Amino acid sequence: MKWKFETEKKDYSFIIEADDHESAFDVAYDTYGPQVENMMYHKVKKGELHGECNRTACNSQNAMFYNHSTRMHYCSSCAYEINRWTPDFKKEKGHELCVLVKSDSL
Ligand SMILES: [Zn+2]
Repeated sequence: MKWKFETEKKDYSFIIEADDHESAFDVAYDTYGPQVENMMYHKVKKGELHGECNRTACNSQNAMFYNHSTRMHYCSSCAYEINRWTPDFKKEKGHELCVLVKSDSL
């Protein structure tokens, strides 16, 4: 599972992969050093960026598409379908309903 580490001000964050809470800290410490001690972290939730796809029937990991309507994140195949169902959104707003999030935190 994935864990999100972030500073209290939420101005810096990164994602790491680990089996449980304790090993998440160890992996993060090994990778990012002592700064990790001052950070908060939690399991990445369904619908969150890099987490599980927000669609109830889907459990794909690494949701990277932001849905401008639900404000949650989806996997690429669900995002593709949602965009196919909502051509009017693109006509109106000039971009798809679900857009790929550009992230440098990984
Ligand atoms: Zn999905």
